Amino acid sequence: MLKLHNTLTGKKTKFESIQKGKVKMYTCGPTVYDYAHIGNLCAYIHADTLRRHLIVSGYEVLHIVNITDVGHLTEDDLNQADSGEDKILKAALKEHKTSEEIANFYTERFFEDIKKLNITKASYYPRATAHVQQMIEIIKILLQKNLAYEKNGNVFYDVEKFSEYGKLSKKKIEDLKHGARLEKHPDKKHSYDFALWLKAPKNHILKWESPWSLGYPGWHIECSAMSMEYLGETLDIHTGGEDHIFPHHENEIAQSEGCTGKPFANFWFHNRFLLVDSQKMSKSKGNFYILEDVIKKGFTPMEFRMLVISSHYRSSLNFTWRGMKQAKKNLQKISRFVETLNNLKENNNISSENTDLSLDTYQKELFKAMDDDLNTPKALGLLFELISRSNEKISKKSLSKAQIEKLLSLWNKFNKIIGLEINTKNTEIPFEVLELAKKRQAARKDKDFKKADELRVLIEESGFEIEDNKDDFSLSAN
Ligand SMILES: [Zn+2]
Repeated sequence: MLKLHNTLTGKKTKFESIQKGKVKMYTCGPTVYDYAHIGNLCAYIHADTLRRHLIVSGYEVLHIVNITDVGHLTEDDLNQADSGEDKILKAALKEHKTSEEIANFYTERFFEDIKKLNITKASYYPRATAHVQQMIEIIKILLQKNLAYEKNGNVFYDVEKFSEYGKLSKKKIEDLKHGARLEKHPDKKHSYDFALWLKAPKNHILKWESPWSLGYPGWHIECSAMSMEYLGETLDIHTGGEDHIFPHHENEIAQSEGCTGKPFANFWFHNRFLLVDSQKMSKSKGNFYILEDVIKKGFTPMEFRMLVISSHYRSSLNFTWRGMKQAKKNLQKISRFVETLNNLKENNNISSENTDLSLDTYQKELFKAMDDDLNTPKALGLLFELISRSNEKISKKSLSKAQIEKLLSLWNKFNKIIGLEINTKNTEIPFEVLELAKKRQAARKDKDFKKADELRVLIEESGFEIEDNKDDFSLSAN
């Protein structure tokens, strides 16, 4: 039984879907005028773990991730939401491309990143630019219901008219009046009102006809429109980074519930910020990383995924290169273990005795930890404990074939949730195997082919394959 922390209630409660066996899940997607940074990717990894866990628990998941290709907002400066700056236009001018080329380019980079990170593809990736009509329809209803007002071709949400405003972020309108980092707009009644539709300045490339002006939608309205289009009026789970709680998700609730009169999302799943060296990531501090930067430092995307899941989604993940090194080691430990089990499975000369490993208890505890608000650090702790205990038995040759198979099946089932790609080709080559390979290379140089062949057999028996290149060799796990 899965229990999830719900930002809306502030409590950890039993997850129940609206429709039995089916989950409707929405995740705020990337803004495609730039690369996704590792903090964004961290949020998609956590949402993926949740989705995988739901699937392993027997649910069918309909998952929508939108593509924000109307680039009027950066996540860094949410307060600029209504300023009308077209970020895609800015990027297009800088890179001498059309806004469509920019959006397509960064959308493709996003898809590449999630593939590298083994993030399950969403059911659909609807684009904001293809759903402007649906946004206009919602705005019309909000105006009819007097929850919004129009002035000079601009439409704003009248926040005070929505009595439940602030229920997600626990902010009070009273507090928003002071100290809010909200941009002023001459046509707004209150600083905390937010834009639903804005009249386009002359140089704005992306603009659409509407009953109010030739303009473009505010940022928040796209998520209300696309979630309703694909998932209906009420979602089971809405996910995102904690930086989106206010104003973005609060505004999504005001728009959707204002329009339909029904609850928008039953569960709000928010992951905490990713910090770099205990500081907020920012371009000006020089600690702003994209996945490519991590790869350039010699780490694999899977090692980054390993780092992300090593920390609970509701605690801040502190990204450091030291942490990445540890994640590399941890992933190698798992890879080696799985590889050893696979090799042993093929080996018939193993023990038939059944030593006690309490595998059923481990299995139960692992899934119990995941059911408890996706406690990945606890589950991984249990996994490493099991690996150590098993390795001990392996070294004493006291694992039976049945146990090996059970261990492998336990791992495969658990990995369906944590989504690690175990690439045995990247497994660290043990020192002894490397020595054998060097000796073999020397034998070949001396034209002692008999000895070289004997050494090849020894290397293969250790579970590795050797390939001869011109003056060198390469080793890979087989
Ligand atoms: Zn959103």
